[in-house]
This record gives sequence, C-alpha cells and structure tokens, in this order.
Amino acid sequence: MSTSIPETMKGVLCTAVGGPEVLEYKTDLPVPKPGKGQVLVKNSYMGINYIDTYFRGGVYPSPKPEILGRDGEGEIVAVGEGDVYDLKKGDRVVWMGSGGYAEYTAVNVLHVARIPEGIPETIAVAALLQGLTALTMIRESHPTKAGEFCLVHAAAGGVGLWLCQLLKALGAQVIGTASNATKIEEAKNAGAEFMIDYSQEKDLVSKVMEITGGNGVDAVFDGVGKDTFEEDLKVVKRKGTVVSFGNASGTVPPLAITKLAPKCIKLLRPQVFGYISTREEFTHYTEELFRFIQEEKIPVKIHKIYDLQDVQTVHRDLEGRKTMGKLLMRP
Ligand code: NDP
Repeated sequence: MSTSIPETMKGVLCTAVGGPEVLEYKTDLPVPKPGKGQVLVKNSYMGINYIDTYFRGGVYPSPKPEILGRDGEGEIVAVGEGDVYDLKKGDRVVWMGSGGYAEYTAVNVLHVARIPEGIPETIAVAALLQGLTALTMIRESHPTKAGEFCLVHAAAGGVGLWLCQLLKALGAQVIGTASNATKIEEAKNAGAEFMIDYSQEKDLVSKVMEITGGNGVDAVFDGVGKDTFEEDLKVVKRKGTVVSFGNASGTVPPLAITKLAPKCIKLLRPQVFGYISTREEFTHYTEELFRFIQEEKIPVKIHKIYDLQDVQTVHRDLEGRKTMGKLLMRP
C-alpha cells in the first residue's frame, strides 16, 4: 500500500441495533486494506439508501459494530492482488458494496465502474445503485412494454423517481403514489402521468381502477411494503405482476400463496445484487444506465449532500419521509 495512505480515517460506526443515535462519528477508524480482487477507494461521496436503516434498526440482522453504506464515489488509491479487470490507481470510480460511511472503502471490483467522460461525479454516484435497481426491475422483474399501466409507490423517492423516468422512457403509463403535494409535483415532472396522494386518498384501489378503466395495472413496483402490499394484489390486473422490492413501512407479512391464484398474479421479491452478480451483468446494466443519462438526458435528482458528521440527521430525514431522490454525504 502507498505510504500516502494514512493508518486511520474518519467514518461512522453503527454501534448497536437502534435509532439514528447508534450512529457514531469517529476520526480514528482503521483504514481497510484491499484484499484479493478488491480496490481501495478514497471516497469523495457516499450514498445513503433505505437499506442502511434496515441494518441499523435490525430489520436485517447484521453483526455490530459495523460501517454501513452500500455505494460511493472516489479515487482508487490502492489495488489488491488478483484480477482487478482494467481498474488501476488514479481511476475515478463509482462502486456498490459495503462499508461506505467512511473516508476509505475496500471494494470488490465486480461492482466498480469508471465514471464515463461527461457525467459529473455526484450524478454518477447518485445514479448507480438506485438507477440499477429500477433498471433491472423494468428489464427483468417485469419486462415493461409501451402502453402498459404501472403503479409506482413512493414515486418521489430515490428508486421511485428512477422508475418514473425509465418507465416513461419505455412508453409506459405511470400511476405514482406519494405523501404530499411537493412530492407529487416532483414525480409528475419525472414522468408520472397520474399521481395519488396515498396519505389522503382513502380508496386507492378504486382510484387506480378508475384510471385504468376498471382493468387494473400491468405491474406494481412497491418499495413501501407492509402498508401497501394488500392493495397491490387488488389493483394488479389478471396475469399482472407485483414486484415487492422493499420495506420502507415495514416488512410484508408471510402470505398464503393461494391468494395469487384467482388472477394468476406473478409475485417477485427481487434485489439488485441478485440481478447483478457477475461482471458481465454489472457492465451491461451500468452501460445502459449511463446511456440513459447521457443520451436520453434523464435527470438525476439529488435531495441534498450532507456532511458525514451529520449522518444521524440524514437517517432522520430519510425515515421521516422528508426527502426526494438521492441522499449523499461527503467526508
Ligand atoms: P426512498 O427515497 O424511496 O425513501 C423511502 C420512501 O418511502 C419515503 O420517502 C416515503 O415516501 C415512502 N414511505 C412510505 N411509507 C413509509 C414509512 N412508513 N416510513 C418511511 N418512508 C415511507 O428510499 P430508497 O429509494 O433508498 O428505497 C426505496 C425502497 O427501495 C426501499 O424499500 C428500499 O429498501 C428499496 N430498495 C430495494 C433494493 C433492492 O435491491 N431490492 C435496492 C434499493 C432500494 P412518501 O413520503 O412519498 O410515502
């Protein structure tokens, strides 16, 4: 490892299962060493994703203490042994992995991409994980066709805005949900043709049926989970697809599979790292994602760039439903 890499770094430790107060900012965490097939990235920006709150709050069990954070952007400052593709020291990259809430992260090269010329670093990092989540779902969970009706919950969120934009680009008709007027406006600008304020609307099912002429939607994309899942099964049309990809309101309880029978519903619970687990898949989808940004001019909404020290506020804002689009931090 180069001598210019320090022994210790700034970062945030999730010290226990709990609320945002268990996130402790530190200035003396050990800098990780890149293992076989890894590179060490000096992060300029780190992403925040809803999944970070699941690990912090114990929805997804994980050993503590741990450094949360699934994505980031920065410079490769050291390269581990083994095959690292064509990546080298000095490259500016975006990555998906773990241990992002820190100045330095050792990342498996499988999920590391050089930033294409012409895409700003903040846009590239804001796009990567949430954009790939949306892209893999519209390509693989429900290969979406022009003219289809798709319901997108939390349409002004990070993944939600991506879904609105990509579905619109494919020619689908998006019905979105969001919890206030500002979010509704944001999702409309991103391509949602119809918006429902599900914090006010008492009969979401009737509303969706009215919009779709009584047929229901071809697909539901639901990252909200517990609060919306039962309605998903009601608004999806016969032979339609329900893609349940997250638990912002809590996890979906176990269900009797026979519930799917009357309408022959296809139900999926995908995760982005499942769709993208080889280098070929990663390259294929990141190239397509960057193409959408560069050629189709899809804008990438960044809610705010916070300081790493303010990580507790970041988690409170995200869980408090105060945000739209991607949240980033800088060290
Ligand atoms: P978002 O920016 O979408 O934030 C979550 C949003 O969920 C809120 O803004 C809020 O929007 C809505 N929401 C509804 N009910 C609640 C509630 N009770 N508490 C808090 N928020 C609520 O986050 P992300 O884009 O990071 O993630 C969206 C979803 O996608 C999450 O469930 C996440 O776990 C999932 N995800 C899944 C992946 C996968 O691979 N399966 C990968 C990435 C994300 P509103 O106020 O409009 O209701």
